[in-house]
Amino acid sequence: MEFLDNPDKDGFYGTFGGAFVPECLKAEFENITAAFLNCKKDVKFHAELSDLYTHYVGRPSPVYFAKNLSRKYGADLYLKREDLNHTGAHKINHCLGEALLAKRMGKKKLIAETGAGQHGVALATAAAFVGLECDIYMGAVDVAKEKPNVDRMKLLGAKVISVTSGTQTLKDAVDAAFEVYSKTYPDVLYAIGSVVGPHPFPMMVEYFQSIVGKEARAQFTELTGSLPECVIACVGGGSNALGIFNGFLHDPSVALFGVEPLGKGTSLGSHAASITYGKEGILHGFKNLVLQDEHGNVANAYSIASGLDYPGVGPKHCYLKTIGRVHYDTVSDAEALDAFFELSRTEGIIPALESAHAVAYAVRLAKEKKFRKILVNLSGRGDKDVEYVLGLKRTVAVSK
Ligand SMILES: *Cc1c(COP(=O)(O)O)cnc(C)c1O
Repeated sequence: MEFLDNPDKDGFYGTFGGAFVPECLKAEFENITAAFLNCKKDVKFHAELSDLYTHYVGRPSPVYFAKNLSRKYGADLYLKREDLNHTGAHKINHCLGEALLAKRMGKKKLIAETGAGQHGVALATAAAFVGLECDIYMGAVDVAKEKPNVDRMKLLGAKVISVTSGTQTLKDAVDAAFEVYSKTYPDVLYAIGSVVGPHPFPMMVEYFQSIVGKEARAQFTELTGSLPECVIACVGGGSNALGIFNGFLHDPSVALFGVEPLGKGTSLGSHAASITYGKEGILHGFKNLVLQDEHGNVANAYSIASGLDYPGVGPKHCYLKTIGRVHYDTVSDAEALDAFFELSRTEGIIPALESAHAVAYAVRLAKEKKFRKILVNLSGRGDKDVEYVLGLKRTVAVSK
């Protein structure tokens, strides 16, 4: 199969991607690209990262045969257990890569924005380990909502900056963090939390996540004697999906499915399915499929899984959709919630609400009987969601 693994020198995958940054930052993004390409070639960098993956993160994460779920639905379902990583999700894979890169570049500080706090916690962890300062920008509304993650970031030594402009949520946190970054970049790396943002971040974050697919391909083959018939992952910005897809992109026999959050329904503002419903546009410095109204105003993104509610998506996903290599489909809040309970009860694994979208889609495909060997990327664990989900159940019980 003939297609682009890497972007062109300007960071484009077909028509998507690029680096639309202010003039003053252009040279800095070129520096980051050069530093990353050097690290990629450097045996010592690989040795350091690989040692961290083994002894700090706990890699390789297992591929697990979900016996009970498989029996129930009549297809063999396997889970790549990224939920077992240190800090509970796949995000630590690229946060450690970015932190090591920052250290190599002689930076003193990592900064980032966070919505629900998952990226903030993973980055604060990596910063603590590598010995860098860490400033996390967070909308004031989110700071109040996500107290446990705010406390964790502080405990890990990060500074949490509460942003009180605009709607006081993720978008305002991005704006505030970027404004500070554009004045302080000589000492700072802006560590983006997914395969989004200006070039080279989509390429770089994908590279750090590709360990997931590399492991999964070898483990699945060893366990079953063949490749999976399909691989499923949820798509927010798209990093866990590209991570696992990387092991199978060049295997034409393996169907790949990216699952977007349909939230409460198909109307603009009720979901975060950017590939399915978005239109080409530039958001946060790169060209991608953006949820927007007919005047080009960026829409609010919504999902029950806060890690999925981004109104854009990684440029490589837009490209993979265009060439037809990956199929993109949607799963609603309600279906994800059902899968959250189902996996907990049948396998004793509480998935993150994000990952529950992929599990729900696996169950859907199993019921359709088109695939018999299915691999799901379980991107994270659901401890963070338990209180919220049980609160929902109580609300539903009272309203009935
Ligand atoms: C952040 C997050 C996601 C969404 O991010 P991607 O970049 O699309 O992978 C998915 N699952 C979990 C558990 C997350 O924390």
